[in-house]
Amino acid sequence: MDDNRRDQLIAMARAASQQAYAPYSKFQVGAALLGKSGSLYAGTNVENASYGLTNCAERTAVFCAVTAGERDFEAMAIASPGGVAPCGACRQVMYEFAPNLVLFLIDANQSDRVTEVSLAALLPDPFTSSDKT
Ligand SMILES: [Zn+2]
Repeated sequence: MDDNRRDQLIAMARAASQQAYAPYSKFQVGAALLGKSGSLYAGTNVENASYGLTNCAERTAVFCAVTAGERDFEAMAIASPGGVAPCGACRQVMYEFAPNLVLFLIDANQSDRVTEVSLAALLPDPFTSSDKT
């Protein structure tokens, strides 16, 4: 991925975090997903008074992309306070479509801190369709 594309992905994740609906946790997260087609998809966390219904930014981005017909992804940028890694549920959902996904974790509190990590490193033993037999 070239630097311009990477910067675009990071900027989109930062912008998406500003749209977070997080009145309960106040933890605003934005995600931007790059599809193999070259299209970009944004996502943000959407909380609910019934906390368990909350959807993470990462899964929102994946679901938006799949809804648009995209099924294969190259990279995702995630902007959050502290630049945290995605939760286990999101890692599993990412793996379904893109086992080789590259992640850029952006610390929204420190504008210049971006950490690159592979999904494979974060989810070494995923549940797969072959596990269901
Ligand atoms: Zn999550």
